[in-house]
Amino acid sequence: MSTSSPITVAYGDGIGPEIMEASLHVIQEAGARIDIEVIEIGEKVYLRGNSAGIEPSAWESLRRTKVFYKAPITTPQGGGFKSLNVTTRKMLGLYANVRPCVSYHPFVKTKHPVMNVVIVRENEEDCYAGMEYQLSDTVMECLKIITRPGSERICRYAFEYALQHNRKKVTCFTKDNIMKMTDGLFHKIFDEVGADYPNVEKEHWIVDIGAAKMADTPEAFDVIVMPNLYGDILSDVAAQIAGSVGLAGSANIGSQCAMFEAIHGSAPRRANQNLANPSGLLLGGVLMLVHLNQPDIAERVHNAWLCTMEDGIHTYDIFKEGTSKQKVGTKEFGDAVVARLGKTPHTLKAVHYSAASPKKERAAGAQKAAAKVTLDGIDVYVAWPSLDTNRLAEAAQNANGDGLELLMIDNRGVKVWPGGMAETLCTDAYRCRFSAKGRTTPKQTVALLGRVLDQGIEIVKTETLRSFDGVAGYTLAQGQ
Ligand code: NAD
Repeated sequence: MSTSSPITVAYGDGIGPEIMEASLHVIQEAGARIDIEVIEIGEKVYLRGNSAGIEPSAWESLRRTKVFYKAPITTPQGGGFKSLNVTTRKMLGLYANVRPCVSYHPFVKTKHPVMNVVIVRENEEDCYAGMEYQLSDTVMECLKIITRPGSERICRYAFEYALQHNRKKVTCFTKDNIMKMTDGLFHKIFDEVGADYPNVEKEHWIVDIGAAKMADTPEAFDVIVMPNLYGDILSDVAAQIAGSVGLAGSANIGSQCAMFEAIHGSAPRRANQNLANPSGLLLGGVLMLVHLNQPDIAERVHNAWLCTMEDGIHTYDIFKEGTSKQKVGTKEFGDAVVARLGKTPHTLKAVHYSAASPKKERAAGAQKAAAKVTLDGIDVYVAWPSLDTNRLAEAAQNANGDGLELLMIDNRGVKVWPGGMAETLCTDAYRCRFSAKGRTTPKQTVALLGRVLDQGIEIVKTETLRSFDGVAGYTLAQGQ
């Protein structure tokens, strides 16, 4: 416990340097055992012509320390600048985003006095894989990727987090009533992984009604785990309804590296005035101290911060006549927290962090035998600008052969042939499903594509129709 941990620090842009200085002051005064390496990222680096906003020497530091404490940065206006957050997340493999959303009633105004929810968001997959295509003049596509290893890792992280932080329940949000395969897999894996944690309560909500419930009755939730897109949106909702967007910190965790930050941006209009609230970054620092296995220091900092809140010593953003006692600047707020190190709050609940239990190597479950895969046919996506569906069906049927036959055509997932409805909106991107009654072979499907082209049909892309151990690995079109 006595050795120091190296960390990489970026002071960021806008209010970043002020809030980082205040946060590090508190953390160091609390006795954190850290060795700091400072890197420069963000606006200055972007404006030097580096479109990523981060230089190779900074990556070297991050790879060395594996822990990144990052103040917010400003992304310059205009195109061509890549989001540093997304780059860091992807390059360092930070698969889990963890955001505690807590209300501090009666010291910070909130409609939800007893909220204490942790959102665990999958950070790499889903619609954020960056796999998008233009299918035709009028149709765009974004691929939603959900994988077994990705889902397993995030669900396990959520349950381990619950155990470590003495949380009682893990809830999963998905939309598996609609996305039966992708969200269905996430839900199934949540159930599988959850079975390893008999003492943690588990539940699943469809994300729409779950989100409504969370916004209305957040006290019904404890830890919530979800795929990337829902997590992105709902972690902001949760932070906002806690009444304290400026007070929330977050952790981005990978198997090798981790990054800790405030959830807000660089607030350039507030910069250099000693106004900004350093609390979000400081609480990000608390998450970092827990990660560094310095629970004693994390606890000292967090409890001193709760005391400061309770004593009504507030920055302008949360200062309220009547509730607050003293309006302070960034630096004075940090000093007030330092003055309370060693104290515990009276009204707000004191926090307690314990040392991480050594990671148990989980015995690998029996390796599932690889599924038997059969090829049932092929979906051929085509651009068909005339929108004459019957003419397309006629041409596509002329390509039938080797047992592969045109089974149906759909547009935006709605069947339009045979027997389409006049009311269905058709675009210029269609999907023709060719199915083999028995089985087909890859060579036969490739030969089919040649015949489709010969009919003057423009092929955009294809998806094979495969079954895994006899279970279709594709969905039916609506109305099929
Ligand atoms: P913002 O979070 O910087 O500001 C939103 C509002 O909250 C502003 O009114 C601001 O004054 C206030 N605010 C934010 N943090 C505060 C604090 N600590 N204390 C007091 N008030 C605070 O969002 P924005 O204005 O949309 O973005 C500004 C810049 O920050 C942009 O360049 C954006 O790209 C960047 N940004 C960076 C990150 C990051 O580095 N993680 C995240 C979000 C936005």
